[in-house]
Amino acid sequence: MTEITTTLTRTPAARPADAALSFGKVLTDHMFMMNYTAGKGWHDPRVVPYAPLSLDPATQVLHYGQAIFDGLKAFRGPDGQIRLFRAQRHAERLNKSARALCIPELDADLVRRSFEAIVAVDNEWVPHAMGTSLYIRPTVIATDVMLGVHPSATYTYFVICSPVGAYYKEGVKPVRILVSDNHVRAVQGGLGEAKTAANYAASLSAQLEAEEAGYTQVLWLDGVERKYIDEVGTMNIMMQIGDEVITPPLAGTILDGVTRNSCLQLMRDWGLKVSERKISIDEVMAAGRDGSLREMWGTGTAAVVSPVGELGYKGEKVSIGNGQTGLLTQKLYDSIIGIQYGTAPDAHGWTSVV
Ligand code: PMP
Repeated sequence: MTEITTTLTRTPAARPADAALSFGKVLTDHMFMMNYTAGKGWHDPRVVPYAPLSLDPATQVLHYGQAIFDGLKAFRGPDGQIRLFRAQRHAERLNKSARALCIPELDADLVRRSFEAIVAVDNEWVPHAMGTSLYIRPTVIATDVMLGVHPSATYTYFVICSPVGAYYKEGVKPVRILVSDNHVRAVQGGLGEAKTAANYAASLSAQLEAEEAGYTQVLWLDGVERKYIDEVGTMNIMMQIGDEVITPPLAGTILDGVTRNSCLQLMRDWGLKVSERKISIDEVMAAGRDGSLREMWGTGTAAVVSPVGELGYKGEKVSIGNGQTGLLTQKLYDSIIGIQYGTAPDAHGWTSVV
């Protein structure tokens, strides 16, 4: 087994109080690093003091965006134990993104161990208050120094961590969503199913437009016909119409969300009718008008679920569930949170204690 070396910081930083935490602003004392060189492969896995990277201005990633990342969390339960949620699946998804961006794959077990190693060293940074967590951000960047578009021959993998506050400080709260019919996030054959910087850059102008119109996030439609639903903001989308739970299929344009997969598994465990199928915005709006659209929610690591209380599309607005959080949405939230914090049985073995 590849050995991970550790160098501890001599200048540990003061940790903020749990109540003062937001998302992603405070970074922990250490980071994990590993390098790739053609011929040598991935080498030198190590935990080192958190520090800036020094990059030549001609470094590939700064120009052509050959970069991937992922995002997962560690939770401190009331029993004092720290649990990672679905670490192996996140490691495997990082490799899926790597393949899409011509980045050499990493050993998924070593990636999972990198999460465990950094959380073990920075364990005091995992906040205590219910709802808080340590966000873990593994990233790979292309580091060849040369202006010319080609897959880099060298890469840096790093993992940084940020203690984050409770997403819902006053209970799960529905948001207003604007369906974007002029911007698209991804197309078939493109990068939509990879977690890569470009997808997030591509989302910014639509997000700004939605905010200016008084909405929280954008619902993305497919890039060809602008007809079928893809994702919502940086979350997967699900809805319950009548007795059917529907979510768009993994057909190349959306991220294979870990929370999506977890919600689908739980709902199938509960015996619900769950369909991974294409669904058009017209079908959704019609269901919104006739009252059969019972609940709609986004799924993602940051919030677990985010209920949609209102949809705006081409000047029309439909309200969903009277703007309240639906029963199924709340049940999914409570169930996943219970598993993450170790207060409910983990029937599928999704968590691993660090
Ligand atoms: N779609 C996109 C575009 C995302 O960035 C995310 C967040 N990682 C998700 C969906 C949700 O994925 P997950 O449940 O794995 O966090």
